[in-house]
Amino acid sequence: MFQREGDPEHAAQLLGPREAGSGVHGPELSRHARQVHGPGRPVGGQSSGLPLAEAGRRLHGYRPRGRAGHGPAPHRGSAPHRRGHGSRRGHRRRLCFRGREPRAADSRRQSQGQRLRPVDPGQDRSVRLQVPQARLGAVSEKTRLNNDKSRAHEARFVFAGSSTMARIAFIGLGNMGGGMAANQAKAGHDVMAFDLSAAALERAVAAGCQAAGSAAEAVASAEVVITMLPAGPHVRAVYSDQIFKSAPKSALLIDCSTIDVESARAVAGEAAANGFRFADAPVSGGVMAAEAGTLAFMVGCEAVDFADVEMALAPMSRATIHAGEHGTGQAAKICNNMLLGVSMLGTCEAFALAEKLGLAADRFFEIASKSSGQCWSVTSYCPVPGVGPQTPADRGYEGGFATAMMLKDLKLAQDAAAKSGAATPMGAQAEALYALFAANGFGGKDFSAVIELMRGRLGALS
Ligand code: NAD
Repeated sequence: MFQREGDPEHAAQLLGPREAGSGVHGPELSRHARQVHGPGRPVGGQSSGLPLAEAGRRLHGYRPRGRAGHGPAPHRGSAPHRRGHGSRRGHRRRLCFRGREPRAADSRRQSQGQRLRPVDPGQDRSVRLQVPQARLGAVSEKTRLNNDKSRAHEARFVFAGSSTMARIAFIGLGNMGGGMAANQAKAGHDVMAFDLSAAALERAVAAGCQAAGSAAEAVASAEVVITMLPAGPHVRAVYSDQIFKSAPKSALLIDCSTIDVESARAVAGEAAANGFRFADAPVSGGVMAAEAGTLAFMVGCEAVDFADVEMALAPMSRATIHAGEHGTGQAAKICNNMLLGVSMLGTCEAFALAEKLGLAADRFFEIASKSSGQCWSVTSYCPVPGVGPQTPADRGYEGGFATAMMLKDLKLAQDAAAKSGAATPMGAQAEALYALFAANGFGGKDFSAVIELMRGRLGALS
């Protein structure tokens, strides 16, 4: 799960300045369009029957990309498709293809083996197509089951291979958000971006986003709002002071920051009170995964909203998993990282003891990898240099998942444990040990470097 965070290349980017837009390729519009139109058909162009892009423009005011004569689309202003999509939560709002009728393209997809779900005969709007199976390659079986549940509930169709674009507001363009916003722009979406940092905003513009003067301005006509902010107080303030006051009620709001569960639930409650759909969707994967569009998202939202959340996150994602109701995305994130922190400390202790007992690290690695001590920290992220697959240990513990980030997540876990009354003595011990390690000046080192604390060799770390 943390393979990307463990990429040795990652630390330099995690700790140093991010190079915006380098070699990032989210799912591409042309591939989507080929799935829709079949091989050999022009992207966004004139396929047989009613051209998809033309239909989208007529029905929803969407602008087709990549065709001559189309300048930048205005981000604001009323869009025809919003008519009839009121703020009532009972009337489910759709991210794409709202109001679209079944047509010739649908039977084409069926003939190409892309199964469609049965249409609810009573509905004449919000028709949605099933995600083509090819698009689901990276999505887990569990995700599919969750999708099926929510779709069955709606008796509607979902189509994720869209060649249309959405208006996305992206707030928070730092190490993570910068790459994520760039991938939304690369996927063909119209991204209005905002960050308090002018430098971050400039990088986003260079990567294809449009600059907004404030968060409120960015969200003013957004269909999807994505936030990637440092911590709970930032998220609460941006949503309360700007997003809820300025975004259209039809906008789907997604917070991808790692924050405390309490804040996530408070923002979700406020969103509901204001008539918005909201999801907490923290990520697994570091800066490289953010740039490559291969993050894993754990989502807390109403089941009925999950398909739209998954579709909105697709250009940034290799897997999107529905954790449950609001706040459970954040719960999944901190529980997973607490488990990781504890298992890494146990792994480090075991290797340090093996060394004292005269057991070679590579022998212990081989034995533990095939025995009951096996875990990801041993087999995929071994803290001992030269043992097992390449890890940050092989590069002086540079790169990977910084101790400071692990400590932040462990603190969130302890805070949640205290508030919920859960007993997490191992998590508490992990937090104390990582705090000690960071206090010694190693907050920027990969979290597996804590093995030197166990070995009593902190001086070996530069
Ligand atoms: P970052 O500090 O690099 O970026 C945060 C950005 O938010 C900054 O550019 C900052 O200027 C901006 N910001 C703060 N307040 C704002 C406001 N009111 N309006 C607009 N912009 C504002 O942090 P990051 O590394 O990108 O992490 C973002 C989130 O992702 C954090 O919650 C973090 O825990 C989580 N996360 C990070 C990593 C990682 O490897 N860096 C991995 C997983 C999750």
